[in-house]
This record gives sequence, C-alpha cells and structure tokens, in this order.
Amino acid sequence: MLVQKSHILIVASRVMAQAVKELFPSSKLADCGLNRDMFYYDFAIEKPFSEEDMRKIEQKMKRICKHSKVVEIISKPKAEVQSFMLEKGENYKAELIDMQEEENVFIFKHGNFIDVFEQSECLAISKIKALKLLSSSAVYWKGDENNESLQRIYGIAFQSSDEMNEYLKNLENMKNRDHRKLGRELELFSFIDSAPGMPYWLPKGWILYNNLIDFWRKEHKKLGYLEFSAPQVNSSQLWKQSGHWDHYKEDMYVLQDGDGNEQALKPMSCPNAIMIYKMKKRSYRELPLRLSDIDVIHRNEKSGQLNGLLRTRMFRQDDSHNFISKSQIGSEIKNILEIADMFYKAFGLEYKASLSTRPDDFMGDIEIWNKAEDELRRVLDDLYGDNNYPIKDKDGAFYGPKIDIQMKDCLGREWQMGTIQLDFQLPIKFDLEYVNANGENERPIIIHRVIFGSLERFLGIILEHFNGEFPLWIAPIQVRILPISISFCDYANEVNQKLEKEGIRSEVDLRNEKLGYKIREARGQKIPYMLIVGKQEVDEGLVSIRELHSSQELSKMSVNEFIEWIKEKISRKE
Ligand code: ZN
Repeated sequence: MLVQKSHILIVASRVMAQAVKELFPSSKLADCGLNRDMFYYDFAIEKPFSEEDMRKIEQKMKRICKHSKVVEIISKPKAEVQSFMLEKGENYKAELIDMQEEENVFIFKHGNFIDVFEQSECLAISKIKALKLLSSSAVYWKGDENNESLQRIYGIAFQSSDEMNEYLKNLENMKNRDHRKLGRELELFSFIDSAPGMPYWLPKGWILYNNLIDFWRKEHKKLGYLEFSAPQVNSSQLWKQSGHWDHYKEDMYVLQDGDGNEQALKPMSCPNAIMIYKMKKRSYRELPLRLSDIDVIHRNEKSGQLNGLLRTRMFRQDDSHNFISKSQIGSEIKNILEIADMFYKAFGLEYKASLSTRPDDFMGDIEIWNKAEDELRRVLDDLYGDNNYPIKDKDGAFYGPKIDIQMKDCLGREWQMGTIQLDFQLPIKFDLEYVNANGENERPIIIHRVIFGSLERFLGIILEHFNGEFPLWIAPIQVRILPISISFCDYANEVNQKLEKEGIRSEVDLRNEKLGYKIREARGQKIPYMLIVGKQEVDEGLVSIRELHSSQELSKMSVNEFIEWIKEKISRKE
C-alpha cells in the first residue's frame, strides 16, 4: 500500500507525543501539525528540552515504533472528548477540540496514550522505519506573545532509512542555499519583528521582483489579458457572498472602517474581478474576458506556519480570472498551459501538469463537469501525450476540476506552482451573465489561474534552485565594473553610464582595493559579468569581460560591442 508522506508525519507526531508524555508525565499536549517535510508538536513543560532530553525522546520514539501495538481510531462526540481531556489536565487539547467545527472527533489510542487525530484511519506505527528530531524552540500558545510559552519539537520520519539518509544529505545542501541566508547575503529582502511574515524588499530584491512583474505584464498584455487593480479592503458583505467568510475567515484580517462597518483585507482577488465583470452588461463577443491583477493580498497565517518567502502573510500572485463560455473550456485551458510553458522555460525550469477530477461532494451540473473533464483530458493528451500526466482522482475542488503545475528543483524537491481552476459555482453565487449570439442570457464559467503562484514564494524557490545565481535577464545586477586601480575610476564611471543608458543593470566598484578582492566580492554577490578596466582598456576604449565562474577573462571588446553582445544574451533569456 502506498502511504502518503504526510500521513507518516502525522503518525510520527503522535509517537513523539507519546514518548514525551512517558518521559515527562507532567507535560501537557498542545498544538501539532506539519511544516513542509517535518512534523511538530508543542508541549507545555516547566523547562525547555535539553539536547539530552531530545536524545532520550528520540530513543523512546524508536522503541515505541519497534514494539508498537495496534492503533485504535475511535469517533466520539466532541463534548465527551473535551471533558475527558480536561479531566486528564490537558486544557490546551480541550481548547483545540472546542475550536473544531465537526460534531465528532477522532481519538487516537495507542496503548495507554490517547490523543485526538485528524484522520479516520491510521497506518501501523511499525511502518515508520527511520526518524530523527531536528530542533526544539519556544513558541507561544496560538502564536500570541501574550499567551503562555510552549516548547515545540520538530522532527522527520520515513518508511526506510535510505529515504532518510537521502533527505539528510539534501538538507545539508539546502542549508547552504537556504533562501533566507541567500536573501541576506545578496541584500534582496529582510524580515523584521514588527511585521512577521511580511517581507521588506530591499532595493536589489525589489529590482528582481519588478523584473518578474515586468515579464508577467508584457507577456500577458500581448495575449489579451486586461490588468486591473482593486481596493485592498472590502466590506464583509462581499466576502459573505463569495463564501470566503464562511470557509476562510480564520485566515483573513478583519477590521472596521471609520463608521464601524465590518471589513476585511483581501486574501484573494476573485470577488474583485467579478465586481469588474458585473460593472456592465457583457456580450459573448467579449469572451474570453481575462481580468488579471497583481495586487497585494494578505492572509493571516499562524506564526508557526510562516516560512521565509515560502509562506508569508503578505504577497502578490500573478492572478487572473478568465470568464469564458462553455464552448471555450478546451481552447482557453490550452492557451493557459502554453503561457505556463513559456514562463517556466524562460527560467529553464522542469515542470509537469496533473489533473484533479470531480470529488464526491461536487456541486453543480454533472453534465458540465463531465464535459469540462473531457476537455481538460483532451488538452493534456494533446500537449503531453495520451494519459502521460498524473491524475489525482477526486481531488478537484467541489466547484470545478483543476490542473496543477509542479516543478522539480535541482535538489529534487517538488513544488506546487501554478493552478488552473475551473469554477462553476461563483458565477451562480454572483449571478453572472452574458448575452449569447441569439440574444439570450447565459452563465459564464470562471477560470482562476496563477502560473508562478505567489511571487514571493516563486522567488524563494528559484533563489534556492539557482543558489542565488539568477539567469542574466532577471539578475538584479547584470554587470559590475572593476577598475584595476583608482586611476581608472573615471573611465569605469563612463562605461557604467553607457551601460545604464542602454538599460543594462550595472554598477561600479570604486573602492581602493586589490583587483582579486573586488573579483571575490563580485562573485559573492553572484553578478553574472564583471568588466575589468585598466590602462590598456582605457587607452583603447575596451573592456575585459569575466564570467561569474570562469577563472580567466573571456575576451576584450569595445564598450559598444559589449553592449550589443550582452543585450543579445538578455533578449534571448540565456
Ligand atoms: Zn480566484
């Protein structure tokens, strides 16, 4: 049986909780969950876990796995489990249960250890063949610094030790290319305590960010996308109508306007695009109507979920809402997948698309569902070969099927990037119409689509993938000019001005330092090209070109020749 990785981690978190309770009986269980490839559990305990404690917990966990018994999963009424937890002094657990919406909760019972569980089934604990605890740190209950301090332990778990060794090797690699570390070293972005989860983009990082937006904007404009911008704050009425209020309120920043009306910062742009659609009567001649935006959005993530640029509270998405007729599903999806192909290829990224089909709790007309899924399959067959793509059975949203785009980075990690989501429900909720060729009103379909997803997350991922060495066309600084001594600074400045005038992002290192030092510095900043200028270059109007990784100079060229040469490379997105 293929066990999902996330399931292994969820089970491992319970094994850890059992080990901690056995070793530290007075500790209390609090929140737990997954963060990327790791599981975590928070404990209320008198003093922080020492390294020795962590070693003991890990040993205990291994023994629990080795001598595991059958895990019982029992469904019980919420109130009953809550009072049971209170009786045992597990007040944090009781409070978490109280926050759950379901009437019943699942109990996880392994020997004498009892916890709540998020799934109705549990694999045998003995399936966990390798595990390791990685770190422990202080966190606040519910992420609020006014609350009690708890101790969180992070760990990993696998079904084989080979798998774990491979992971640990990659982890070492990853540490060296951690995007937060690179972001600091390359002066791209920073986080400060007064705005957790919200990046400060530093001047160089902001150039990078804008390069991405410029590329997005230019290509989409050519393809008939219409960009708009809409308010950050909207009345809660709008979010109630869209359904976000019911399903998503926890993740929204709710506030009040000057008149005391309830409002919220937008966590996504769908209702804004819909409002624009509704501002006038639409005709079939306007479809597909592609309303795109890159507005800032906010999601009130728990602090424990935040992860550098990979998970932020504030970000932009390369979002678009395409309003189409039923007959345009296939052609529009193909269109979007072609854009995705162009975008990923511009970065040399490998990707694959997968199809998520109708879930059991789907809403809407089954005829439309069938037709849409057939169209999606046909497009994917055409582009990637018959059935030559993963199908996630019943994994579509209740309001429509979707195509996901995953990329694999150079460390073999898979990332969910773009999503193309069909939506049959929002057009009903907002009573959207257009006049068809016969003069009758018809309901459009909405496609929600992102190619990069969150720009913050995309930049975080490619920062690690490229180890900070961005392709020339998007690199924040493309050229650094290095005068051999201060007597050549005027010429260096002159060259720099010429390059800047031609739109090449360049800078000069005017410091009175040795050339070797300047070269090492430029390399550390991962600047694609260095131009070295000394006496010969000044006398003959030349520059000596050196690439980031080459140990010697490539060639000498006149300044104008160099400008043509590098512009050609930039335009080809080399
Ligand atoms: Zn949307």
